[in-house]
Amino acid sequence: MPVHFCSQANRQPPCGLALNSPNGCSIISAWWIGISSLGNYIMRKKIELSSFPCFSSIMAPRLSYVFALMLFVFSSPVHSNEDPTIRTMEEFSGYPSQSCSTSTPSSLSVDKETLQNQIDELSTFSDTPGPSVTRILYSEKDVSARRYIKNLMALSGLAVREDAVGNIFGRWEGSESELAAVGTGSHVDAIPYSGKYDGVVGVLGAIEAINTLKRSGFQPRRSLEVIMFTSEEPTRFGISCLGSRLLAGSEQLAQALTQATDDKNVSFFDAARAAGYATDGQDLSSVFLRKGEYSAFLELHIEQGPLLEEEGIPIGIVTAIAAPASMKVNFEGNGGHAGAVLMPHRNDAGLAAAELALAVEKHVLESGSVDTVGTVGILELHPGAINSIPSKSHLEIDTRDIDEQRRNVVIEKIHQSALTIAKNRGVKLSEFKVINQDPPALSDKSIIKSMEAASQELNLSYKLMISRAYHDSLFMARVSRMAMIFIPCYKGYSHKPEEFASIDNIANGVKVLALTLAKLSLE
Ligand SMILES: [Zn+2]
Repeated sequence: MPVHFCSQANRQPPCGLALNSPNGCSIISAWWIGISSLGNYIMRKKIELSSFPCFSSIMAPRLSYVFALMLFVFSSPVHSNEDPTIRTMEEFSGYPSQSCSTSTPSSLSVDKETLQNQIDELSTFSDTPGPSVTRILYSEKDVSARRYIKNLMALSGLAVREDAVGNIFGRWEGSESELAAVGTGSHVDAIPYSGKYDGVVGVLGAIEAINTLKRSGFQPRRSLEVIMFTSEEPTRFGISCLGSRLLAGSEQLAQALTQATDDKNVSFFDAARAAGYATDGQDLSSVFLRKGEYSAFLELHIEQGPLLEEEGIPIGIVTAIAAPASMKVNFEGNGGHAGAVLMPHRNDAGLAAAELALAVEKHVLESGSVDTVGTVGILELHPGAINSIPSKSHLEIDTRDIDEQRRNVVIEKIHQSALTIAKNRGVKLSEFKVINQDPPALSDKSIIKSMEAASQELNLSYKLMISRAYHDSLFMARVSRMAMIFIPCYKGYSHKPEEFASIDNIANGVKVLALTLAKLSLE
């Protein structure tokens, strides 16, 4: 198979500027670092000046080229091999380089500064002040963030397209583009007052992985695609992983969305249309992926737990994603005056809820596995007055496991407890509804092997681990081989402003991602 890692003839930056210099490899690095930072600047200006379409569409790319040429003229060969973890693509793949001398090896050099700037910049598209990030599906800020991502993809030379719900795809055409592509990506929506790394690392990091491969002179055989999934978070319409569930072909979700409204009673389709999507009515079948569209899918993500940081391990290789299920439960009693109604005459809906919350903990612990978890995240009492016996209670329960059957046993036990508690306390179990019950996903063994090999090549220690949070990968696993890369995050914090991952850790994740993508693209 003809694979061109670093032949000078193939060292063409995406805009088509051919640099036939003896120091082409390192000059391109400097050139690219320059144009990336510049691209950032131009994008900022472009968004500010979006009311001037001629600037956006004509001047910005031209300015990029002018500055790129200036950088080319003034740049000195820098950024080659300064990182001790750099390994050549030839070494990793086993394919010899075509014409680079050993003094200018094609290297995997992540542009950390630009990547950090992009993460910081993306975080400013937020409905709450920094360091918190709030970016809700189809809001003005979400639309701006989407424009930012699409521009970055275009600057990286990717062909950009969007589907009817706004999943965004950036494609680097492979030499055998008819083959199933290799996908990678994550999400950039953010729950209220969360942080700037969840999901973002897997989107901006994926674009940087592509840039890194391009700089190294790599030529993909299978096309590589960066995907930005719509609405991984359930904030607006109560549905998590909306985009990836639809990609995986969920007819049930496509149907449910025709009825879905947000808390301001805006329908899903009105919101989507306002953001420029769903222009062809309510049929979302065009979003469903065709069978075999991806040969593999990878997601880079912060761990959202403390293990990697505690153990000082830079890379987590996910072997399975725990399967979530959630339930809504309502109890109803008679309520009454907190002083006048004596204890024997009460049927307290609040106490029924409290007893069920404890039963959830008990049933989860009974499974005997640390992988089984259960949480009562919402417990509401009505009317919520200190001198009134609760007449209604509402619980929302989340339970997860990597073993679907074990998790389903827990759900059944919770249901039985709810029935028993209602009977014993003389309250009515007015609702017990399993909202979702997704199957767990196992990572593909051969991709895990590729990731292990990539980590070893990069001299990065790694740990095989389970993802206890779920991700778009859970749904991509229904239509493709799948695996995930975790990187450490500060104290495991996530979904709050303190969320943090160091750029060194992010860059390590990007390198493992880039090498694994390269390998999968050649399969
Ligand atoms: Zn996420």
